[in-house]
Amino acid sequence: MYCDSLTSYSRRKTIEVNIGEVPLGADHPIRVQSMTTVDTMDTRGSVQQIRRMVEAGCEYVRITAPSLKEAQNLENIRKELKKSGIEVPLIADIHFTPNAAELAARLVEKVRINPGNYADKKKFQVIEYTEESYQRELDRIRERFTPLVKICQEYGTAMRIGTNHGSLSDRIMSRYGDTPLGMVESALEFLRICEDLSFNQIVLSMKASNPQVMVQAYRLLVNRLDSEGLLPYPLHLGVTEAGEGEDGRIKSALGIGSLLEDGLGDTVRVSLTEEPEFEAPVARKLVDRYRNRAGHQKIAAVARVPIDPFSYKRRMTHQVENFGDSNVPRVIADLSNIGRIEYGDLKAIGHFYLPEPDKWSMNDMGADYIYTARQPVQFMLPNGLKEIVDHDLWIDQKDLNRFPLMDPHHLAGGYQMHPLMNFVRMRADDLHSLDVIATHANVVVWLESVNRHARADLRRFVFEMISRELTNPVILTKAVGHNSLEELQLEAATDLGSLLIDGIGDGIFLSRGFNQQDSREKALDTLRGHNQTGFTILQAARTRMSKTEYISCPSCGRTLFDLQKTTAMIRKRTDHLKGVKIGIMGCIVNGPGEMADADYGYVGSGKGKITLYKGQEIIKRGVPAEHAVDELIEIIKGDGQWLEPAARKE
Ligand code: SF4
Repeated sequence: MYCDSLTSYSRRKTIEVNIGEVPLGADHPIRVQSMTTVDTMDTRGSVQQIRRMVEAGCEYVRITAPSLKEAQNLENIRKELKKSGIEVPLIADIHFTPNAAELAARLVEKVRINPGNYADKKKFQVIEYTEESYQRELDRIRERFTPLVKICQEYGTAMRIGTNHGSLSDRIMSRYGDTPLGMVESALEFLRICEDLSFNQIVLSMKASNPQVMVQAYRLLVNRLDSEGLLPYPLHLGVTEAGEGEDGRIKSALGIGSLLEDGLGDTVRVSLTEEPEFEAPVARKLVDRYRNRAGHQKIAAVARVPIDPFSYKRRMTHQVENFGDSNVPRVIADLSNIGRIEYGDLKAIGHFYLPEPDKWSMNDMGADYIYTARQPVQFMLPNGLKEIVDHDLWIDQKDLNRFPLMDPHHLAGGYQMHPLMNFVRMRADDLHSLDVIATHANVVVWLESVNRHARADLRRFVFEMISRELTNPVILTKAVGHNSLEELQLEAATDLGSLLIDGIGDGIFLSRGFNQQDSREKALDTLRGHNQTGFTILQAARTRMSKTEYISCPSCGRTLFDLQKTTAMIRKRTDHLKGVKIGIMGCIVNGPGEMADADYGYVGSGKGKITLYKGQEIIKRGVPAEHAVDELIEIIKGDGQWLEPAARKE
């Protein structure tokens, strides 16, 4: 497969790579890193930013070196850092410029190269290769790349071969397409050259803005390293262009967390369209979950893995009401602990009561179900919203839109059931509980885990269902205690979102820890955050679109406009375009390729100049930045995708 075990946590054993005084891989802790955003020629600004990043927990700092002069300035940055008492390994980030790489490799501890553009210029050409012509290309790469490898050997400099889904070469695209396999091959072409030259101080990465693609590519990479007998190189994990705020955190956790859960990953970079010092604390939270993971409660081994971890396919389920089959995964809000429920409380979960026309309306993140346990709602719910209550209460207070939550013993004991749909609470470590649902097609499994290796526990249970050919839909649940909203986002995205990207899960339920001290207002605020988190996880897993998606880069020294300001401006004008994906890239490096995943693109192409895309097609070049958002909206309008924003519902 791609990891030691799908049921018992252990970190993949890699070789050690020395990066200055902070070695990576082997038994060393999972390292946290980030990248500067100021101009590399701004020595003072770089040093100040690096100081903030190191104070925030960065163990390596990456700096872009687009040309020789920036590569040379790394020396000045290094000197000034030393004077300030900051000892942190520096990594030069290289695209297109082997000469800058060769200089930087003499000055800093590690060089990152992008195999998509180290020896190739992207022209978006589809080229027919014969075996001979392909081999000639590989020979050309070897000639171009060998000097850098030799310099790294001589200076003890480490290297990352960092594939990016958005910047695969025309050669790779022509042969493998825009696929995880193409991403892996892109790195392996360079890696094989390193191995031939006996250079192994290498770290590998497979970044994409789509967490599904990213996770599949890393898994495939490990699989290929093992099957080709290559060394187990350490992995640098990251979701590229993850965006900002909760979207960026959830998307990152979903991709990075999925891999960490299976023991993959030796260093992590979370890419946010925010100040770089905000990245390391998020990465640290993701990584720290594995400090005490080994030795978790035992999970039954899997005899046969019933899914393909290298491609997405939703688990086959039958339909129960609006769960399962081709229905989007549902969001269930936990209202069990807020006391008597009033009309206005449902605002927190996207349903709004309008007294004047005496009508309900909802926004794009209106919950599908509410769980009220033993405190059923005393008024008629808005159309489309349904209620789940505990079974004994349901027996007394039956209603068309109310469904029971039962335990397996209710089924075994022949208790009364709803004719259409029943939720049955099952613990993932109790595989025997599955015996009782075999004859009940109207059951939706409400799956919980108490194991600290929860994702693997939940996955194991669903594997058992697949093996037994049980096609009941499954709701993935997580008890979230009193965590901060950010912790909740990271943990739920890791534990539940990572199952969704493997096609597992027909609903999501985040149960809210009850705190007696909480005011009602605070409890509703928490509920609002949880509801939004549920929808954002589904969107990040690409299983249900409920808002506009922004694929925005974190910015770096190459950036040609203010990413944070521009993203906020574009968001303000377009955040009502549900399901539309807008790429916002500070420069052309990943720009056109990354548009493969976006519907529209806004890419820096010169000082104050923007190139606008529809998919990968350039629609307008060199648009002055002050008109570029208007022009972008015109393109969306021309495409029939524009909607006038309705009066904003909170
Ligand atoms: S896309 Fe953004 S982060 Fe990537 S190189 Fe360009 S400016 Fe830097």
